[in-house]
Amino acid sequence: MARLSDPITVLKGVGPTKAKQFAALNIYTLEDLICHFPRVYEDRTHFVAIGDLQVGEPACFRAVVMNTPRTSHIRKGLDITRVQVADHSGRLNLVFFNQKFTTEQLQYGSEYVFYGTLSGDYMGYNMTSPSFERPDSPPITTRRVLPIYPLTAGLSNASVLKAVRQALAICDPPEEVLPPQILEKYNILPAEQAYRIIHEPRSMEDVQQARKRLIFEEFFVFSAGLALLRASRKGKTVPPYQKTDLSPFYKALPFTLTGAQQRAISEISRDLQKGTPMNRLVQGDVGSGKTMVAAAAAVLAVQNGQQAALMAPTEILAEQHFASLQKLLAPLGISVALLTGSMTAKEKKQIRESIQNGEAQLIVGTHALLTDATCFEHLGLVIADEQHRFGVSQRAALTAKGTDPHVLVMSATPIPRTLALLMYGDLDVSILDELPPGREPVDTFLVNESYRQRLNVFIRKQVSEGHQCFVVCPAVEENEELNLKAAEVWAQTLEKTVFPDLRIALLHGQMKGSQKEQVMTDFAAGNADILVATTVIEVGVDVPNATLMVIEDADRFGLSQLHQLRGRVGRGKAKSYCILVSSNKNGETVARMKALCKTTDGFKIAEEDLALRGPGDFFGSRQSGLPVFRVAGLSTDMGILKIAQATSVEWIETLGTSQTPEAKALRKRIGQLFARSEGTIN
Ligand code: ADP
Ligand code: MG
Repeated sequence: MARLSDPITVLKGVGPTKAKQFAALNIYTLEDLICHFPRVYEDRTHFVAIGDLQVGEPACFRAVVMNTPRTSHIRKGLDITRVQVADHSGRLNLVFFNQKFTTEQLQYGSEYVFYGTLSGDYMGYNMTSPSFERPDSPPITTRRVLPIYPLTAGLSNASVLKAVRQALAICDPPEEVLPPQILEKYNILPAEQAYRIIHEPRSMEDVQQARKRLIFEEFFVFSAGLALLRASRKGKTVPPYQKTDLSPFYKALPFTLTGAQQRAISEISRDLQKGTPMNRLVQGDVGSGKTMVAAAAAVLAVQNGQQAALMAPTEILAEQHFASLQKLLAPLGISVALLTGSMTAKEKKQIRESIQNGEAQLIVGTHALLTDATCFEHLGLVIADEQHRFGVSQRAALTAKGTDPHVLVMSATPIPRTLALLMYGDLDVSILDELPPGREPVDTFLVNESYRQRLNVFIRKQVSEGHQCFVVCPAVEENEELNLKAAEVWAQTLEKTVFPDLRIALLHGQMKGSQKEQVMTDFAAGNADILVATTVIEVGVDVPNATLMVIEDADRFGLSQLHQLRGRVGRGKAKSYCILVSSNKNGETVARMKALCKTTDGFKIAEEDLALRGPGDFFGSRQSGLPVFRVAGLSTDMGILKIAQATSVEWIETLGTSQTPEAKALRKRIGQLFARSEGTIN
């Protein structure tokens, strides 16, 4: 017997070359392989008579070979083999390309099982390259439900199938983490069966049962993990804040806070006076004014003799927060410092000293704040801005920096209420459901290439009125180098051929922090008319004079991401627009983008995203900040999800300390899961 942690090279037929291909799918161990679930299944169990085959609908049929297969050599590299088969209902011509060797084994007069798709029209029908087997052979390509796996270059579905089959033969699937009572109550398959059936189902009903189990397991483990985290924090005590006077802060503000901002601040203030560490999420649409809520919390921390750290997902955003908070809080006698990865070693050292000796009271930074070299004198409050970029483990890592600091996370990705509990099970939630007064909604349009001329005219019009414009190019396969190209090439095209008279700037993720800052500052100062960018501008950047957001190949973005991008405009007094450019005609994709044109309510958009793509994709998306769920690619049933969440919370008290094998396995799994979610930072 092999172990789950053994490398896949213990399998026959998996050498260094195959191992490399599997590595491209993040498969290194037998466990990774067994947890590499099929993307879809082909139901090859249905038999149809030849006379009943329908064009375009794949099916199995039994038929006798009516002649000896004949191969004609058409040209170099192209052989065509033809053979006729028949059953009681009719005859059918089969055509194979370059399969001389296998197809010539079809014996005249013998019966085979075929699986293929009928093509043709009233002029005549045929079938191209069906799979076939002898009726007495084990079912491999016919007479079964065939799993189709996510693949990579050079790796065929057949080789994944073979490897998985072997792995399941030489080692046991992952341990059971669900208590037997739960299995029974919800009629859920045991782990042992589910992991086998998901790879080797006998029917589509089997597939449903196995999926249900694995989805349940995955969400159960995740929300149990959050519940444990929450429980461990609830047991801790910290000195309650005594000073909670925010009136100097309110007086320093250039505007009155919205009702929603005031509510959130008083919820935070109450948390801080409680004597247990705060763990609160502030969820508010783009532009709802989360920064001010964060600032108020920081003021409270400093008033009570503690340091506050504000982490942003990008340097640009950290720099922008630093600038605005410095301006606002320095007059109140609060010392604000900035620490980012791209500062020189000397600068960093200096800032770190001031953090360590307590001189710096509010520290703004990127995840550089997380590195061990940064020590705080007395870190009392940690604020994570745009939380969706920070996984659970980042929260945990920062928490470890102080002695149980208060934690405030801010997210502009509205999560449908149905999912919020699951994602933020360890947090209390404040919602900013009100925008500052005077904001006009951003008009959004979906156009295709035929509008290019008119779009260019529109861009020119905005610029001639003294406004600025963003042009965002899509993320290509999350590959930074390709992203860079797309934006760079496009910027050049605009500069050389479309708008030679306008000032065009370029911003992308591979620039150094200082370069990015320069470009952004320049743009904000009005020194460029058009900023061509990759999604680095997605979060937070504030340029009130920008009134137009053009998103190229908009179909490549998720709805929530489009909504984020749109939030970059409409921040000033002038009417703003967002133009989604896409030539994609897929009905679902178009519906997705049209949903965005109809509403500017982030929560509605999130609900729509959920309805259109299902929670699987919602969780699977890079933006969710969740660990990547293995079953995310499988279609998910909301019902299972809710039960898994509720059940885990119900069970957590017992499972937290229980010594049953499932409870031990569960705790181990939670540890692994949260360690793995480290990867979500970017
Ligand atoms: P987000 O929630 O997207 O982080 P910000 O905190 O960046 O929003 O705020 C967006 C803009 O609105 C900023 O320019 C900020 O100064 C301004 N703002 C915040 N609160 C108010 C308010 N109550 N009234 C007017 N403007 C506000
Ligand atoms: Mg913000």
